[in-house]
Order: sequence, then structure tokens, then C-alpha cells
Amino acid sequence: MTNSFIPPAKPIIGDEEREAVDRVLRSGMVAQGPEVAAFEAEFAEVMVQGRASVAVNSGTSGLHLGLLAAGVGAGDEVIVPSFTFAATANSVALTGATPVFVDIEPDQFTLDPVAVEAAITSRTKAIMPVHLYGHPAHLGELMALAEKYDLDLYEDAAQAHGAELDGKRVGSFGRFGMFSLYPTKNMTSGEGGMVTCDSDEFVRRVKLFRNQGMETQYQNEVVGLNNRMTDIHAAIGRVQLTKVGAWTKTRQENAAFLDANLEGVTVPPVATGAVHVYHQYTIRVPEDRDGFVTALKEEHQVGSGVYYPVPNHRLPSLTHFAPGLELPETERAAAEVVSLPVHPSLSQDDLQRVVAAVNTVVKAGA
Ligand SMILES: *Cc1c(COP(=O)(O)O)cnc(C)c1O
Repeated sequence: MTNSFIPPAKPIIGDEEREAVDRVLRSGMVAQGPEVAAFEAEFAEVMVQGRASVAVNSGTSGLHLGLLAAGVGAGDEVIVPSFTFAATANSVALTGATPVFVDIEPDQFTLDPVAVEAAITSRTKAIMPVHLYGHPAHLGELMALAEKYDLDLYEDAAQAHGAELDGKRVGSFGRFGMFSLYPTKNMTSGEGGMVTCDSDEFVRRVKLFRNQGMETQYQNEVVGLNNRMTDIHAAIGRVQLTKVGAWTKTRQENAAFLDANLEGVTVPPVATGAVHVYHQYTIRVPEDRDGFVTALKEEHQVGSGVYYPVPNHRLPSLTHFAPGLELPETERAAAEVVSLPVHPSLSQDDLQRVVAAVNTVVKAGA
């Protein structure tokens, strides 16, 4: 058997995306325009059960603008996980507010509601869970806490297009939600992000911050940025939106195959009432995780990923927010997690190779 390398992620860009880009280029109007407006309306329908959606130039911008629109700024605290991509805490820090890092629970790697409650202070403005790897956070408990303490809830749904809890799509729970459209995410627009909003006024504010604070040209109401999406990117995103449902189904089937065939590892648990969209399929390797990753790659040509090896509160850029903080489940996850290929481009042969490789390497290490 010739073993070509199985990559841990693979963006799918087809002829329709190329034709859509060409259509926009030929129109001569490439900046934010009708394609962006159409993408926003279609995203709202397909992804978040009709919640108004505003397109921006990245997921990080989406978080930043959502926070600005919510009025988060200096003096506020926003509770975030440390076990996530740095964009979550970066966006809080960029508003002048303080990210407060809280531990995760060990099953889904998402914010632990008990630890969240313990971290609430008189300065807490909001809780911002991350639906990590495509599994919804503990939204029931977190929404109840937000209600009890009169806080906002914002959702970092960068990795969770189409994930659900109790029949409700993520991105439709909080005051705002953010989806990333980066190429390795479950769908892409090249670069891009989508902010889902709970009211018309919130939509207006996100749009203001997206466009220099202007609703009417040269009548700037607030200090804003240029975080607009181009029509070129929106055209790609509109095509991807018609495909992401089938891709998600394939991710879920691939995950079911891995669940059924991996031996000697704990497969990712799915909470009751949750729909997992498997942005990542993540297992724990408690002994010598890095040796496991190397063996998969060098002996079996199977790629994998470690998301994320350094908790945010340990990063040189963010550690000053939490000097000396210890988050035991976060540290353990950072040392143990490995994400296996689960993306929709895998063939049945690829999946069998992933299973054989993992089972062989686990057995050898046992
Ligand atoms: C990708 C990602 C982001 C940022 O999205 P970009 O589009 O890359 O700016 C934020 N949070 C999480 C959890 C992510 O995975």
C-alpha cells in the first residue's frame, strides 16, 4: 500500500467558488456590496434559524466588533476559557477590558459553569464561552448564570457552524455570536467572519463599528474601524453555505466511524441534547502525547493537530492578566489533546488508515 500523507485539515474550494469570484471581478464592484448583503441574509437562514447576521473581514474582527457593540471596555471583565485560540482573549483585551480566564470541564473542553460562577465579580460584564472543536458549551447553565447575575453572554462559535443544543443553533443563544470563515474552519470565505445579533439595534451598532462609525456617509457617530468583508469573499462564502450541511454530515459520519473503531482511547463524548459538528475530533493521550503525534506522522503518514499546546493564560502576550493563575483541567488538556483527521475529504481508505495507525501506536505505547 502506498501511503500518501493524510493532512489534518483540507479546505474544499470548487469550480462554483471560482466562478462566483469571477462573476464579482467581472462586475467591477469588489468591495462590500450586494454579495455581502445576500451572504448575510442567507447565513441567517441556513446557520442560525433566522438571527440577523453581519459579515466582517475575520472571526477575530467579529468578536472585537461584537464586544464594542455591547459596550465592553476599560474596567469591565469578561469571563473566557484559557483553553482556546488566542483570538478569544485578544478581542477582549483590545477593547480595554480584562479577560478573566476560567477552567474547563474535562469532557467537552468547554467552560466549567461552577468555575465561572466562582469567578464572577462586581466588574464582570459578560461570559464568553467557546464552542470548542464544534461541540456546544454548557449553554443551559451559563445562560442561567447570566440571568442570575445580570450578565451578557457572547458566543465564540468560530469552530461550530451548525452545532446545536436542544434543537437550537449555537450563535442564537447569546447577545451576539461569532463564526469564523477562515479556510480551515468548517466553511470559508477565504478570510471572514459573521456576527449573529439578538436585536436590530445590535445589528446597527456592529455595522457602525465595521464601517468607521458611519451609517450615513461622513456622519460618523462612533469611533470605528474598517472591518468590512469584500464582495469577492462573500461570493465564496455564499457558495460554501450551500455545501456546509453535507460536509457536516460527512464529518459526523467520519466521527462515528472513528468512535466505533478506535481502541484503547476515550472517544469525544457528546452531551445529551447536543449536536457536535466535529470541527476537530479530539482524543486524549495522557502519556507522551508528542511521541504519539510523531509516530502517527512518521510511521503512518497520518497528520494530526494539537489545539492548543499553550493555554492562553500562559502566553507571553496575555499572562499579565493572570499572573500565577493555575487552571488544572486546562493545563492537563493542553498536555494531552490530539485532534485526528475527521474532515470531509477523507476517503474510506484514509479513515481505515487513521484507525489502524492510532490503534497500533496506542498498543505499542501501552
Ligand atoms: C479561528 C478562531 C477564531 C478567530 O477567527 P479568525 O477568522 O481566524 O479571525 C476565534 N476563536 C476561535 C475559537 C477560533 O478557532
